[in-house]
Amino acid sequence: MTTPVQSEMKLLSGNLFLGGEWMASAGQRHKIINPADETVVGEYADATEAEIDRAVAKAKQAQGIWWAMSALERANALHQVADQMIANSAITGESLTREMGKPFRESNWEGGAAASSFRYYAELARHENGRIAGPAIAGQLQMVVKEPLGTVVSIVPYNFPMLLAGWQSAAALGAGNAVIIKPSELTSLTMLLWMKAFQSLPEGLVQVITGGAAVGQNLVSHQDTHAVAFTGSVKAAQAVAMSASTRFKPTLIEASGNDAFIVMPSADIDTAARGATFAAFLNCGQVCTSAERFYVHEDIYEDFVAKLAKYASSLRVGSGLSKVDMGPMASQRELERFERIITHALEQGAELVTGGKRPSQTGKGFFYEPTVLKVTAEMEVMHGECFGPLAPVAKIKDIDEAIAHANDSELGLGANIYTNDLEESFKAVNEIETGIVWVNTPLNDNDAIPFGGRKFTGSGRELGSEGLEQFRRSKMVMIAPQAEADPEWFPYPDSDAFNF
Ligand code: NAD
Repeated sequence: MTTPVQSEMKLLSGNLFLGGEWMASAGQRHKIINPADETVVGEYADATEAEIDRAVAKAKQAQGIWWAMSALERANALHQVADQMIANSAITGESLTREMGKPFRESNWEGGAAASSFRYYAELARHENGRIAGPAIAGQLQMVVKEPLGTVVSIVPYNFPMLLAGWQSAAALGAGNAVIIKPSELTSLTMLLWMKAFQSLPEGLVQVITGGAAVGQNLVSHQDTHAVAFTGSVKAAQAVAMSASTRFKPTLIEASGNDAFIVMPSADIDTAARGATFAAFLNCGQVCTSAERFYVHEDIYEDFVAKLAKYASSLRVGSGLSKVDMGPMASQRELERFERIITHALEQGAELVTGGKRPSQTGKGFFYEPTVLKVTAEMEVMHGECFGPLAPVAKIKDIDEAIAHANDSELGLGANIYTNDLEESFKAVNEIETGIVWVNTPLNDNDAIPFGGRKFTGSGRELGSEGLEQFRRSKMVMIAPQAEADPEWFPYPDSDAFNF
């Protein structure tokens, strides 16, 4: 039986959302595969250069209309978008699960989570539009006024498409910009469906231009786009940052992570193991803030590994549209990349505790069992981003050793620690070189607190007031009540001339 959402996905195949309407692209089409059963769910198109030019021109027009509105009108419009996102979340949720596999509960959640950031920026953006400084010249009004950048290109990955495009768009729109979203090839249809929520905005203010890396590059280097917000891998981020720099476009870069997860003896070990299971296997490990490397104190190591293995092996793996905890990996390419990481880790001497293979009962689909390995901190698997259902656990002697390992990384997104020792908590917060530290509360975020990383994970911040600033520029403004000659002007008095 075909569901209404499946029919809509077929209808939207090969479309763009350009100038406020869905239209078929003239570009080359590619199949989108359901990772749970390997059926074709639809197609995405590579937008042509002419289509990109049209979208950029529409964005410019729409941005003028948007910025001419009052801040209160913009706030109301963003709340309306949030309402629609929530109303449509089951539809976009089903579509997302069909495209990239995550359990429906998680896909459905994304609609509401993105809406939450729209509500936050709807209000924050009208709170202030700059500030008035104490004047350097008596009687003048001297201030910084905040202005939008223009058209923001938002390039997003497949793992949380609505949440991540939502964070970027909400802040960019709140700041007064137009947004062109370049979705992942794997989740293009969901992003096109998601556009139903944006129909009340000026036509062309938010658009979806599908395609691969070349389409992303065209948007980034286009002379009439003004800023780039990118979320994805380090390699793609570097390519984006380099082409944006040619025209000095501001870039927000959110790239890969390989978050450490430390467990100390004072922690509640059972809760820590449950938290670890969630942090490692949420969205089949395809989360930028997934716990990728575990450092566990030697006194509790065996106990923790046994509990983690128990919880991991009890996860129900299967189609995201059935009663499961974990779906498949998003694509065959991702599954094969992940399998190579496991094979290599085992060759290097990692000990398999549970998982380590594709499940036998699922038949078709890109499934893999939640996998726990015993490793040493030096092994390669602890030094990259595996982005799959793996929890490699190494033994450590004390908190200093754990923090040293956590910092021994070229990436710096987040880090977790489970401890009930206040001194250890403070040490972790102060010494771990990441953009986020979670103490006993893995993977949570808050619209009001900036999210982002250090090192090769990127630069800039999403969410919070910092997230709004990413998409505004400052203008220095000075107003004198009336025109008066300034004593600093010409002619200079002879008494100030060089005297020798
Ligand atoms: P990816 O880098 O392959 O693709 C991300 C997006 O960039 C896609 O839309 C893709 O089409 C586009 N793209 C790829 N090459 C490009 C280029 N040269 N120029 C312009 N655009 C280009 O990433 P992915 O596989 O979709 O997602 C997984 C990665 O995203 C992981 O590394 C993960 O850690 C990262 N991620 C980071 C965060 C964060 O907030 N730091 C959040 C989610 C995901």
